Amino acid sequence: METIQATMREEAARVLAEGRAQVVVGFEEGTLPLTAAPVFITTPEDAQRLVWNPACGQNLAKYVHDQVMAHRESQKRLKPQDRKRKVVAVVAPGCTTRSLAIHLNERQYERDEVVVLGVPCTGAVDRRKLLAAAGAEELAGGAFGNGTVKVETAAGIRELATADLLAESCASCAFNNPVFSDVMLGEPAPSHDAGREFAPVEAVQKLSADERWQGFAAEMAKCMRCNACRNACPSCYCRVCFAEQSQPQWVGIGQSGSDVQVFQFMRLYHMAGRCVDCGTCSAVCPMGVDLRRYLKKLDKDVLDLFGRRAGLSPDEPAVLAEAKEDDPEEFIYSP
Ligand code: SF4
Ligand code: SF4
Ligand code: SF4
Repeated sequence: METIQATMREEAARVLAEGRAQVVVGFEEGTLPLTAAPVFITTPEDAQRLVWNPACGQNLAKYVHDQVMAHRESQKRLKPQDRKRKVVAVVAPGCTTRSLAIHLNERQYERDEVVVLGVPCTGAVDRRKLLAAAGAEELAGGAFGNGTVKVETAAGIRELATADLLAESCASCAFNNPVFSDVMLGEPAPSHDAGREFAPVEAVQKLSADERWQGFAAEMAKCMRCNACRNACPSCYCRVCFAEQSQPQWVGIGQSGSDVQVFQFMRLYHMAGRCVDCGTCSAVCPMGVDLRRYLKKLDKDVLDLFGRRAGLSPDEPAVLAEAKEDDPEEFIYSP
């Protein structure tokens, strides 16, 4: 962990000093104990702020897209001959590189507009699990160690094993090493327990249609439509979301049961072949909605039907963006 962090700071400073990127997107210490927050580093000196630890779970590809798009928008006000490109470097474990691959496949930006600082990833902790294991709603302090985390609460200091606190998406992550990179910040990490990644889907598939619908409706009843899941997701980058279009208005913007259900299942289907299982949408949900359960079903369907996983290569088009003359058509009629 410390070695990766030191190399990360060194490489980030080098990339900026050599002018290979104008900004590095990474993590810095959060304001609360045992948290990390996205940071935008623009000078070699500031690279010392970068951190890498098990609190760094958010998928930063979202910010790469935001940075490039905001820059392109600002350039429109300049004369064509004065316009410049902006290159964004990003600290990227496996899931983030898969999201970058999706952006590249979907022609959001060019390969030479992003510098990938690839991180071998041992997984991020689930904040809810961490607080539950600490027996507290707030932490007074804490520190990550080598495979352990020290938590300080009003009741005292305890040491917990990081492996017991991993987010579900990390504990069963099949792609914890970068799928591509420009600079690797360490040796590949051992693979995670990928064999059980579809276990929750298999459990739900055994239920009757009625039971599945009741489960979905109950889960969606928790949603307060804050849009945090959508706003944090790297695959949700439309400038105007279908949920906010008013002509036509595809779905109401309120919190009525059917509006929430339609919003969520349209967003979920939009993720078919495009979700990289980073778990960010579930992690940021203030209501604890288990979106991952449904996203994994779509992930499994794409694997079973097409033998493909999302974002494994910057050169491979997304599965539903590719059409072949000899494509079978039965799937259109038999879901
Ligand atoms: S989903 Fe995989 S690559 Fe992403 S943070 Fe978790 S373990 Fe790392
Ligand atoms: S839908 Fe959720 S898990 Fe999938 S890519 Fe988006 S944020 Fe990550
Ligand atoms: S983050 Fe949670 S509460 Fe907010 S819209 Fe998404 S599912 Fe609903």
